[in-house]
Amino acid sequence: MSDSGTFAIEGFLIRPDGIAFAPGDNHQSPGFGRGPSTGRRGSPLPRGSSKSGEDAEAKTNPKDNMVDMTTMTTTAEDELLRLCVLGKGAGGIVYKAVHVPSLRIVAIKKIAVFDQDKRHQMVRELKALYKNLVPIAGAGSSTARGSIREGPCPYIVAFHDAFITPSEGNISIVLEYMDGGSLQDIVDTGGCGLESVLANISYRFLLGIDFIHAHHQLHRDIKPSNLLINHHGAVKISDFGIVREMDGTQAKASTFVGTLTYMSPERISGEEYSYASDVWSFGLSLFTVALGRYPLQTEGGYWGLLHSLRDEPSPSLPEDEFSTVFRDFIDQCLKKDPKERPSASQLLEHPFLEGCTEQLEQSEQERKMSRQRDMMEDGRDEEDDMEDFGSDTARSELDEICELIMDLEYERWKKKEANGTASKSFPRVPRSKLAALADQLGLRLKAVERRFERKWLTLIGRLGGHSARRK
Ligand code: ATP
Ligand code: MG
Repeated sequence: MSDSGTFAIEGFLIRPDGIAFAPGDNHQSPGFGRGPSTGRRGSPLPRGSSKSGEDAEAKTNPKDNMVDMTTMTTTAEDELLRLCVLGKGAGGIVYKAVHVPSLRIVAIKKIAVFDQDKRHQMVRELKALYKNLVPIAGAGSSTARGSIREGPCPYIVAFHDAFITPSEGNISIVLEYMDGGSLQDIVDTGGCGLESVLANISYRFLLGIDFIHAHHQLHRDIKPSNLLINHHGAVKISDFGIVREMDGTQAKASTFVGTLTYMSPERISGEEYSYASDVWSFGLSLFTVALGRYPLQTEGGYWGLLHSLRDEPSPSLPEDEFSTVFRDFIDQCLKKDPKERPSASQLLEHPFLEGCTEQLEQSEQERKMSRQRDMMEDGRDEEDDMEDFGSDTARSELDEICELIMDLEYERWKKKEANGTASKSFPRVPRSKLAALADQLGLRLKAVERRFERKWLTLIGRLGGHSARRK
C-alpha cells in the first residue's frame, strides 16, 4: 500500500479523513472531524457530490482498492490524540483517544486490512455499525439513509467514523468510548446477584438487540465481553465482527462462527439458526453474570459442550438464591427449542422487567437536569471544593487530557501566529465542549472549566501576558 490511499470495499469508500461513501448512500457520509477546520481540500470526491458508493468504488483501482490521495491535507489521525491501549481482541488492538476538535473521548479499533479474514470481518462490522452512525460533532445532521434518519440506538455502542492509515495498512474504526469495562469484568470479580441491576442490564440489552433484529441482522457474538458499560450505568452492545445480514425476518443462517461457549443448541449442532440464537446467548451471558461463573462444563471442549447443550436440560439458576420471576426470565431465554424462545420484543414484556421503563426515564431525566444545573453555574470564579465529586480516575484523566489538548492547541496557535493567521489571542476552549467532556468523565462542569482555565492562564503567562491579550 502506498503512503497515500483510499480503501474501497463493498460500497464503502474509506479515506484518511474518514468514510467518504457507504453502501446505498445518496450523499457523502457525515462522519467525524469534518468541521470547518478539517475540510477535505484536494479531495477527488468533493463534499456534496451525489454520486453513489458504487460509483465511488468504480473510480478506484479495482486491483488494490486504492485511489491517489496525495493532495489530501488533513487526516483523521491528525485530529486524534492517542491515550492508551484499552485491550486486544481477535480483530486488532483497541486504543483510547481524544478527538481534538470536539474533545470527545473515543475508542479506536485498529484492523490490519492486508489480512483477508480481518478485512471481511471489518466490512461486516462496518456495515452493522454504520446503521448506528453518530457524527461526532453530535449535530444530528446526518445525510445518510435509512435507519440513521430514525436516529441512532442508544443501547448499541455508537459508531463515529472509520479511516485508513495508508502507511500502516490499517483501518481504524472510531467508536463511542465506554469507561466501565464489560460484563466480563463483573463476572471476573465474582458476578452480580442484584436482580434490580440484572433487570436494568436486560432491559437495555433487549432494546438494543431488538433494534438490531428489526434491521434484519443477527449479532452472533453476544457474550459478556461484548456488552460494555459506562459510569452512567448504560449497557451497550458492541463487536459486530461476525454480524450476519438476514434477507427477511424468517431468514436462517447456517455458517458456523461465533464464540462456542455462548452458542445456542441449534447453532452448536450446525443446524439453521435465526434471531432466537442471540436470545439464548444473552440468557446464558446474564446467567453467567448472576452466578459469577460460566454455568456449563467446558472441560470436554466442543464435543462436551455439544453433548450438554443438545442432550441435557438447560441450566437453571439456584432456587434459594434467585427469585422465581428472574429464574423464569432466564428459563425463557434458555428454551432449548428456538421456536419456544420468546423474541427480544416479547421478553421486554416479561414481569421481571416491570418498572424498568420508568427507571430508565427517571435516570435520563436526572442526568439531563444535572447537566442543565451544571451549565448554569460559572466555574471560573468560585473556589468551592469539589474534590469529593467524581472518581479519582476521572480527575487524573481530566489532568492528562487537559495538558495534552491545551499544549497541542497552543502549539498550533503559535504556528498560526507566526504566519499571521491566528486569532489575536490564544482562545479558551468553548464551554459546550468542556460540558461534553465533563459529562463523559462524570465530573462537574465547574471542575473541568477550572482545570482548563488554570492551564490557559499558565500558557498565556508563558507568552509574557502581551500577545495573548493584545488588541
Ligand atoms: P473478541 O475478539 O473475542 O471479541 P474482545 O471482545 O475482547 O474479544 P475487542 O472487541 O477487539 O475484542 O475489544 C478488545 C477490548 O477493548 C475489550 O475487551 C474491551 O475491554 C475494549 N474495548 C472494546 N471496545 C471498547 C469501547 N468502545 N470502549 C471501551 N473499551 C472498549
Ligand atoms: Mg469484543
